[in-house]
Amino acid sequence: MTHPFSDSPFFRQQLYIGGKWSDALSGKTLAVEDPATGTILGSIPNGGTEETRLAIEAAHTAFKSFSQTTAAERADMLRLLHQLILDNKEVLAQILTAEQGKPLSEARGEVGMSAAYVLWFAEEARRTYGEIIPSPWQGRRIMATRQPVGVVGAITPWNFPSSMLARKIAPAIAAGCTMVCKPATQTPYSGLAWAELCEQAGIPAGVVNVVTGSAREIGAELTANPKVQKITFTGSTDVGKVLLTQAAQTVKKVSMELGGNAPFIVFDDADLDRAVEGAIASKFRNAGQTCVCTNRIYVQSGIYDRFIDKLTTATAALQIGRGTEAGTEIGPLVDGNSVDKVDELLADAVAKGGRVVAGGKRHALGANFFEPTVIADATSDMRFAREEIFGPLAPVFRFETEQGAIDLANDTEFGLACYFYTKDLGRAFRVSEALEYGIVGVNEGLVTTEVAPFGGFKESGMGREGSLHGIADYLEIKYVCMGGLNAAS
Ligand code: NAP
Repeated sequence: MTHPFSDSPFFRQQLYIGGKWSDALSGKTLAVEDPATGTILGSIPNGGTEETRLAIEAAHTAFKSFSQTTAAERADMLRLLHQLILDNKEVLAQILTAEQGKPLSEARGEVGMSAAYVLWFAEEARRTYGEIIPSPWQGRRIMATRQPVGVVGAITPWNFPSSMLARKIAPAIAAGCTMVCKPATQTPYSGLAWAELCEQAGIPAGVVNVVTGSAREIGAELTANPKVQKITFTGSTDVGKVLLTQAAQTVKKVSMELGGNAPFIVFDDADLDRAVEGAIASKFRNAGQTCVCTNRIYVQSGIYDRFIDKLTTATAALQIGRGTEAGTEIGPLVDGNSVDKVDELLADAVAKGGRVVAGGKRHALGANFFEPTVIADATSDMRFAREEIFGPLAPVFRFETEQGAIDLANDTEFGLACYFYTKDLGRAFRVSEALEYGIVGVNEGLVTTEVAPFGGFKESGMGREGSLHGIADYLEIKYVCMGGLNAAS
């Protein structure tokens, strides 16, 4: 089958190791489906332990010279990479929508965000300053310098197949590290497109390698191999825990961007229309499949009924369609399992007294489509109070007091993003300080930007991506004590 991107150099179906494109050593492949239609987009190599070992060797060899490049040289490479992404934004967005399902408008936004991360880290490459520290001894000087950690293993999820890699590839290159990347099997083409982009940008062979195939084998090799110094992972908390356990055996540095269970609190004094607009944006982006998507909406009793009315109207107006169709706001879910989970969570809520006021069933467009759904009268015993929904269900709970809302919001092992709406300045500070989350949107439902630190508290992870902190995880601090500096007697 042909696609608008079939002949594009960015649509790659091979591994990229040491600057060369290749198949899996076994010759085996895995098929990749378009979630909107179920048609096969193409295949990818079913690589594993051996291919990962080869990629690590390539990255290890490349590190010797790449770590010696100047910050200005790496910044220039990243600037070129940034321009290439912008020049090819449309085809990169088409590939992304085809494999992931999100509306083209969102895919364009994601590719634009990838470019923004690359430009940001092109700038940060030149600012990895060290320190001269006042010495407690005469005749000695104390310096702290920063140097690249070495070979980095990066594993990413399917929901943002372009930008989750951007947040890792860009700071790694900026710092002078080399990498082995493993994109999600359901959305590998945006990951392989990064390899083509890096090649075209003149990033030296072996600096960025991309392997696809068995997650278990690739993850095991990346975490066990002593030539890998750091693991950076974005994905579910369950897989993050497996990788943390494995990486402990060789004491690697780790960054973890894991699952969320975002509360969205609307106080009686909120701007109601703004709150509804924020809830729609933060709940239904990517059909509810983002780690910062609103999972639980808490509304104070004084405005509960009016909020439900407005949210129901706005949700019913959302346009469902294939991502490639103009005007689509909600595309398919990534696969049948995701649709089944949404169905189960909905049935559980209805059995426990939840009231469906918008949507509520699978959509006629295809097996992976589900109507955006609002459930009123949600209660804490329903499964989605604890579990990440990752789909277009918006449960609305009722609360009475500020402290009650804070307690409900914090009653989870997750701590990635949260949102609340109020016009009271004192409350804005009190509540944002009390919420146990790494990211807080106050009167804002979409807050991700390359200039701000992204990451979670509690079981949502460790480390931060983006911002001036995003490069820190790719740098080791070295303390140098220079002695014998007193004048010769
Ligand atoms: P996932 O199942 O954890 O998979 C993520 C990646 O890990 C994929 O590349 C997957 O490979 C790989 N993987 C799976 N099992 C593995 C193993 N045993 N060893 C090594 N790698 C393994 O997550 P997902 O379903 O793709 O993504 C959704 C999750 O990601 C949600 O929980 C979401 O909240 C989280 N997320 C977090 C952030 C953040 O910044 N905090 C951002 C986006 C998403 P295969 O594809 O081959 O299975």
